[in-house]
Amino acid sequence: MSDGYDAIVIGAGVIGAAATLALSRKGRNVLCVDKLPASGYGSTSGSCAIIRPYYSTVDGSAVAYESHYYWKQWSEFLGAEDERGHARYVNCGCMVLKTEGNDYLSKAGDIMEEIGCPYEHLDAAQVLERMPIVQLDSFAPARRADDPAFGKPNGGRIEGAMFFPSGGYITDPQLSTHNLQRAAEAIGARFRFNVAVKEINTQDMHVTGVTLSGGEAVEAPVVVNVAGPHSYIINEMAGVTHGMNITTRALRHEVAHVPSPSGFDFEKDGCVMSDNDTTAYIRPEHGNHILVGSEDPECDEREWVDPDNFNRDFTEQARVLAMRAGQRIPDLPIPNQMKGVVELYDVSDDWIPIYDKSDLGGFYMAVGTSGNQFKNAPIAGEMMAELVEACEDGRDHDKDPIAFHLKHIDRTVDLGFYSRRREINPESSFSVLG
Ligand SMILES: Cc1cc2nc3c(=O)[nH]c(=O)nc-3n(C[C@H](O)[C@H](O)[C@H](O)COP(=O)(O)OP(=O)(O)OC[C@H]3O[C@@H](n4cnc5c(N)ncnc54)[C@H](O)[C@@H]3O)c2cc1C
Repeated sequence: MSDGYDAIVIGAGVIGAAATLALSRKGRNVLCVDKLPASGYGSTSGSCAIIRPYYSTVDGSAVAYESHYYWKQWSEFLGAEDERGHARYVNCGCMVLKTEGNDYLSKAGDIMEEIGCPYEHLDAAQVLERMPIVQLDSFAPARRADDPAFGKPNGGRIEGAMFFPSGGYITDPQLSTHNLQRAAEAIGARFRFNVAVKEINTQDMHVTGVTLSGGEAVEAPVVVNVAGPHSYIINEMAGVTHGMNITTRALRHEVAHVPSPSGFDFEKDGCVMSDNDTTAYIRPEHGNHILVGSEDPECDEREWVDPDNFNRDFTEQARVLAMRAGQRIPDLPIPNQMKGVVELYDVSDDWIPIYDKSDLGGFYMAVGTSGNQFKNAPIAGEMMAELVEACEDGRDHDKDPIAFHLKHIDRTVDLGFYSRRREINPESSFSVLG
């Protein structure tokens, strides 16, 4: 059966919903399908939803800085109501500590100058002024909790940081995805939930649609894989992995939620802080809590998992994370019973996403978002829509990559940066920092 769709988007996470909206805005009749019961219920629901402009590459930073403007003007960008209200951007800024491990941020200033992104250098006293709950002993290198030197200062000190005012976090990542869904529906897109894509249908080296659980075939000349940690499974169904130089796989991660130390209103007065020394990053969370994530130190084994069969319970990971944050924040309360989330990243070989076509005509992918692309979702959606338009009009994006204009910062990104065929980008941090 065919409903006459122009495009099918697989996955209603924040990037799938954004791609559905952007493709609909190009005049396409779009169906977005998800095997879960609602939009944003996959890995997006566990996202820390931090907005920050600092990445290790110029292009990565430019796109991330541009995203700040989309979130600042979220309601205008959506142009549609949502009965649940619109997600809120808390623009509290981000502080990144200068450490030996990040080369004292020696390149970050140049990158920010190049993309025109504001920043400040802070000395140690200014760090303490901004975040009076921290202390500045150095603990690097990060260690496992069973290492006798865990939590022992190494004698060095953190001497400063950079502060980026164009950052913060989105209070409710699932709601922001629902907002995108409602905006797309308002211009004709259709969302179907509780249906899994089981097959990618093809004819003569071109996609013709998908077969859903239950056996229903839905036809469309364009199919976009935005399946998050399941992206490699969809790519395997489509038979496109042999044409890719970059692969993706699912990585399990825990995030800890802990109360702020008493006497400090972290929700009101805190900001996002990236601490490469302890390898814990933090951000304010409602209820005067602190959300703690990991910057993936080498000592921690990476847990590559089957996205359909992994441990959803906390292990020691969340507690170790909280204890690392506690090295920086000595009065941090660490509850006996850990709270937080267990979720998956869809990690590419160089922790930079793939926003690209494939070797199968009409089959596209926005995958490998590597724990760092929530912020870029609205732009990723627009990039994918431009890519689809151009390729469907006959452009050979592999040979002649599309340039995408970042309208708020008036800069252009060569979408070849996100190619599935690229060499592994040596500039990457090879971590969630991208
Ligand atoms: C713990 C954690 C913290 C993070 N923190 C940040 C952060 O602070 N800042 C930031 O910018 N980014 C962050 N990220 C990354 C960001 O959240 C992701 O990049 C983003 O949410 C990915 O969105 P998505 O739409 O690609 O994928 P998902 O949200 O995973 O959506 C994919 C959807 O595809 C569906 N699907 C899969 N297979 C099928 C199938 N066969 N048929 C139908 N549907 C299918 C799934 O059900 C799912 O809903 C974090 C991620 C995690 C997990």
